[in-house]
Amino acid sequence: MPSTDAREMMSSWEEAVLVLRKNLFEEIVKHLRDELPNEGCGILAGKDGVVMKVYRIANVERSPTSFLMDPREQLDAMKEIRESGSEIVGIYHSHVASPAYPSERDVQMALYPDVTYLIVSFQNSKRPRARAFRIAEGEIEEEALLIRGGEGYGDKDLPERT
Ligand SMILES: [Zn+2]
Repeated sequence: MPSTDAREMMSSWEEAVLVLRKNLFEEIVKHLRDELPNEGCGILAGKDGVVMKVYRIANVERSPTSFLMDPREQLDAMKEIRESGSEIVGIYHSHVASPAYPSERDVQMALYPDVTYLIVSFQNSKRPRARAFRIAEGEIEEEALLIRGGEGYGDKDLPERT
């Protein structure tokens, strides 16, 4: 479990931040790539903004421009997360051909003000870009996204901003 180190590292970070180990980020990117040409989506479980587990959820809309998490899979994941003593720290989805920024619909559909919305853009499919946001009452606020290397703690790697 990476929590001790991750938390130490978080304390040096000023604002709200989503912390992802590189291998988990790669898992997310792989999932979302598998879903192309449609948007993919899922849930990030963990604690205090530190992601520990990724839940792939089917996009029932099967659309290149929107997503809706399969309600049954979403409930199952939420139950497992609750029972494991962790929390939902984020919801992720892909943008197939637009930047990693919440769409109007994303804002309308953002029902959880306390979670981070992670968006991975495949506009440049060779170099997916990720950004993190809080969305509350129609307001979008960008959050820091910290992707940590898998070996040691020196090799942090922030994805490029669009
Ligand atoms: Zn979106």
